[in-house]
Amino acid sequence: MGCRYGVGKVAILGGYEGMAENFSEKTKNELARIIPKQRCCRIAELSAFYDFNGYLMGEDGRYLDINHSSPLVARKILNLVKGLFPTAHIQILVQRARSRKNQVCTVRVLRHDQAQGVHATLVKQQHRMGEPRILEKRCCRRAYVRGAFLSHGSVTNPERTYHLEIFTDKTEIANRVIETINSLQMAARMTTRKGNRVVYLKDGEQIVTLLNLMGAHSALLQLENIRIVKDVRNQVNRLVNCETANVDKTVQASMEQLDDIQVIQAHMDLRELSPKLYQIAKLRLKNPYASLMELGEMAVPSMSKSGVNYRIRQIHKLRQKLAPSFPSQD
Ligand SMILES: [Zn+2]
Repeated sequence: MGCRYGVGKVAILGGYEGMAENFSEKTKNELARIIPKQRCCRIAELSAFYDFNGYLMGEDGRYLDINHSSPLVARKILNLVKGLFPTAHIQILVQRARSRKNQVCTVRVLRHDQAQGVHATLVKQQHRMGEPRILEKRCCRRAYVRGAFLSHGSVTNPERTYHLEIFTDKTEIANRVIETINSLQMAARMTTRKGNRVVYLKDGEQIVTLLNLMGAHSALLQLENIRIVKDVRNQVNRLVNCETANVDKTVQASMEQLDDIQVIQAHMDLRELSPKLYQIAKLRLKNPYASLMELGEMAVPSMSKSGVNYRIRQIHKLRQKLAPSFPSQD
């Protein structure tokens, strides 16, 4: 069917080609550079690193380790430990692996008393009445979530879908994370995947809020831009689809009218119709794609849209009378 109203594919505001770079990694790199101003928040963030990847090691907890696969994050952990415990004896261990993912950097507090001291400070930090134990101050909760996200978090490329998650195999930590996030006016959910607890957000707006709370401002800006583009694209697509639907309806109706007229023609000479019906039938045959209003304008004397519609219905009735097998349009 040669349809001149056909709306072709509308290519509007295509994908961000430059977005191939890992959004999650970019976000983490940004967060890894943040050192909280306040001491309370520094302890809070370090306690998150410790919750996720920290251990008392050796006989009687002789030393304390905090691990991370990213050297950038390990450096942040080191800076936090150094700043909070200036007298601590610290060692950095890097266990190289074939893939960068499996590489482990360890920040180790060496002496028994110091390891115990750091442990006590970080664990004491969590103490608050009630379960799960979340931090008292909002500033510290934000820092905690940042540490948790840097430890075991990821966020998908927003071009594709909205998904931010933090996972852990420790239920207690997962509960702490979800309670902490939700105490910041969000609605994170939890699921289980391959033995891990996964705390996640699916809502674009909430992910933006969380990135903001963690301090990932350039990641946030990038995500916001994509959201706007996506939004505009969706609106345009909705409009286009809507218009296409209307056009299709008009064309469909016109095809049915042409069919009516041709059936009538097979039974009788159109000139036998009343002058007004004859005129509309002729105009429709000549102008298969014109709207009813356009047909009315072409008529002499001109006719209103409802006037044309009335004649179209009469033509259809006549056709049904002449060829009753045709299913009714009403
Ligand atoms: Zn704080």
